[in-house]
Amino acid sequence: MKILVTGGAGFIGSAVVRHIINNTNDSVINLDKLTYAGNLESLVSVESNERYSFEQVDICNRSELDRVFSTHKPDAVMHLAAESHVDRSITGPADFIQTNIVGTYTLLEATRAYWNTLADDAKKAFRFHHISTDEVYGDLPHPDEVQSAEELTLFTETTSYAPSSPYSASKASSDHLVRAWLRTYALPTIITNCSNNYGPYHFPEKLIPLVILNALEGKALPIYGKGDQIRDWLYVEDHARALYKVVTEGKVGETYNIGGHNEKQNIEVVNTICSILDALVPKTTPYAEQITYVTDRPGHDRRYAIDASKMSKELNWQPEETFETGLSKTVEWYLANKTWCQHVQDGSYHRERLGI
Ligand code: NAD
Repeated sequence: MKILVTGGAGFIGSAVVRHIINNTNDSVINLDKLTYAGNLESLVSVESNERYSFEQVDICNRSELDRVFSTHKPDAVMHLAAESHVDRSITGPADFIQTNIVGTYTLLEATRAYWNTLADDAKKAFRFHHISTDEVYGDLPHPDEVQSAEELTLFTETTSYAPSSPYSASKASSDHLVRAWLRTYALPTIITNCSNNYGPYHFPEKLIPLVILNALEGKALPIYGKGDQIRDWLYVEDHARALYKVVTEGKVGETYNIGGHNEKQNIEVVNTICSILDALVPKTTPYAEQITYVTDRPGHDRRYAIDASKMSKELNWQPEETFETGLSKTVEWYLANKTWCQHVQDGSYHRERLGI
């Protein structure tokens, strides 16, 4: 099978590309614009594989998308390209509307035009897999606000959409477009909504890599508000495995929620990273002393938690990592991959990709 992966130079996309190249016989066409979040250094281990190819293309560029479809003739699309950082969506929503909504629309239309040219069997077998977030569901009751444990509900595939940030609203819009292209045009689509990912090759603007690198550099470890926001965390390689299962075995028209059964308060996450570092890279004072509390993000969702039982029952998928094993692996990866981190921090990964 030939899979067109959009956003394959990003954090999750690169894990998907590495997973497919290293564990299957399928081919990957990685289509990525290479924004600040796209880093080809995350793909060094697979770039010379003959089943891997790269196209630097913006998903908003219809003629380039048409060229890629007619050149490579994929059997499936896994759509991960997006603007993904909530804080950036608050200070500058325009790119989120453009890429996540207009880009998804443009990609759906290019896919539909190509799909319409396929023979009946190929048309039936084709998949458009849209990768989305649990943030489209808004937030859930927090333990502080409830009288009993039964009120601590989880997001299921039928939870109503109630996005809070420009990021989650743009992703919710893209999910609606994908469902409409299935219903209106019969394009064989599948959607997955996943909780927070963490792991190797994560851009250090996100909580976990930011905390690891700031801690090692003796910098402040910023925590929004009281740090009591709850997120469900999933190791990125478990997510990549889940996504491959969905695109190969999932049912057309279905939505699958993917999560790690790891509900943690942000402060717990940061304290766990600090304890791992205390053991691996000891210094005179504990890393937790670098924690500083900063003004909370506007509209900050208090709790997300995923019910991933459909993935487990219907596709026999479970995460392999616990939060503790995944987080230890992640910290060890950042300690062992200083060059990758340094190139991201000094911007040279950017110069290299732009050829300057
Ligand atoms: P990321 O920001 O690390 O990577 C996004 C990639 O998309 C980058 O390589 C970037 O260059 C590319 N891109 C951006 N705009 C583009 C455009 N216009 N055309 C082509 N490429 C473009 O994001 P990520 O964390 O890997 O997330 C991937 C997907 O998974 C996103 O759709 C995101 O909404 C979703 N998701 C992320 C998480 C998470 O915890 N990171 C959780 C659930 C769902």
